[in-house]
Amino acid sequence: MATPTGNTSTPHFKGETSSVGSVGSPASHIDHVLIVGAGLCGLATAIGLGKAGIRVTILERSSELREIGAGIQIPPNAARVLSHLGLLDRIATHSVRPRDIVLRSYSDGSTLRSLNVDPDAQDSYGFPLLVTHRADLCKILYEEALNLGIAVLFGCSVQQIDFARPAVQLAAGETMAADLILGTDGARSICREALLGHADPPRPSGKLIYRVCIDIGVMSRHPEVADLIHPPRIHIWLGPAAHVVCYGLKGVFNVVISQPEDDKGISFDVQKGDLEKLRQSFQTWEPRLRKLLELAHETLRWSLPSSRQIESWVHPRGHFALLGDATHSTFPVIAQGAAMAFESALVLSSLLCSANSTAQLIALLHVYNRVRFPRTSKVDELSRATLDYLEMPDGPEQVERDRRLRDHGPGEGEVFALVDPEIQSWLWGFDARAHAELSWGKYVVENEALGLDEDNPAARATD
Ligand SMILES: Cc1cc2nc3c(=O)[nH]c(=O)nc-3n(C[C@H](O)[C@H](O)[C@H](O)COP(=O)(O)OP(=O)(O)OC[C@H]3O[C@@H](n4cnc5c(N)ncnc54)[C@H](O)[C@@H]3O)c2cc1C
Repeated sequence: MATPTGNTSTPHFKGETSSVGSVGSPASHIDHVLIVGAGLCGLATAIGLGKAGIRVTILERSSELREIGAGIQIPPNAARVLSHLGLLDRIATHSVRPRDIVLRSYSDGSTLRSLNVDPDAQDSYGFPLLVTHRADLCKILYEEALNLGIAVLFGCSVQQIDFARPAVQLAAGETMAADLILGTDGARSICREALLGHADPPRPSGKLIYRVCIDIGVMSRHPEVADLIHPPRIHIWLGPAAHVVCYGLKGVFNVVISQPEDDKGISFDVQKGDLEKLRQSFQTWEPRLRKLLELAHETLRWSLPSSRQIESWVHPRGHFALLGDATHSTFPVIAQGAAMAFESALVLSSLLCSANSTAQLIALLHVYNRVRFPRTSKVDELSRATLDYLEMPDGPEQVERDRRLRDHGPGEGEVFALVDPEIQSWLWGFDARAHAELSWGKYVVENEALGLDEDNPAARATD
């Protein structure tokens, strides 16, 4: 894990304001929030609440922070959230700003489409697209949580939730109560199952993910792959039933490979993969990609989980909500899973700051659910359609896809979401905090117009 450098020449982004607490008055009516899971979503949610003056405890099953050291893309909509949380400058010092996203043919590596992101993302949306080490991102969030006085308790596995009290029961038998419980325990979520009232494990998606990291120093000594490092780019190879995404981080080149799951029963947990077998399956791919795999010393792999979208993220009693991968499983093809979790974290924490009575809590949670579900569902659908599009089998459809990508300018109606300017703007231009303010304002106006009383605030929010 890299250590923060304390670099004073930090780039400062438009909007780096750390402004969560200014959404409304501090939510003093909520004394204590318990968050289940210290992943990216749990930490970001805790920071949003902590900045609003709310006391937060995070319960994490693992014995330590567990974001293993590969890369993550931070698209402009996520960068905006991190800026609102006052973290983007710090994250940027550990990140790389890719110049383009390049879609490539698997067979000869030729460019099918190149999409500028630096400076275009900053110019269009006010925030850049960054790529960074997950471990660095996680560490910055964790340190900020500690600075805010948030308690992060490791080795605390939540087993059950009592929605009436509300309280959680830990594996060790201990019970902990709070005013509000938030489930951010990822794709294999105990919290989600407790809310649904039945088992709901993720299913295998039929895809295997391989991760390979190559030392950039080693790579730069091999001229045939050196052009993948400079200028910094996100390279995506489109191939039959597989695709590859790679980009350079500080010191390491991050390669993520999606392949069909050949053996049934491969675990969702990260395991050591068979590098020789992986190399064999890329024999028909362009030479640079084969060289990358030749330079690798090891690979990790896991089965990509797929969960059913659930519409209801809030318990009817109003003291519990789900966020992040626990609510939806976004396939990692448009780099929006963590971005959706960050957006939800900011929407929920901003809404909680807007309430001025405990009676409004249930309404707030329903407003949160109502505004987040349509967006995350659409992103899930986009990610699934994009996976099929990137992994089309060779044939007439693939030839037509490649022709369209090569020949068209910025195109409308392209399945690869980021190529369609309207979808790109919907994804990357989203302002989670403004959205939260607008939604709450609308709710208040609607309720006033209907003359609804504060004792029944959910009535309007659930429609
Ligand atoms: C290959 C790949 C590449 C990706 N790339 C990107 C990208 O470039 N950009 C992007 O935005 N997203 C990306 N994503 C998606 C992103 O990684 C996830 O959406 C995000 O990490 C989800 O965060 P989370 O906090 O909701 O869940 P998790 O990260 O799964 O965290 C859940 C936490 O809860 C803990 N926990 C679980 N059960 C319990 C329990 N019972 N009690 C206590 N604690 C518990 C876990 O130990 C864990 O720490 C990618 C995903 C994959 C697989």
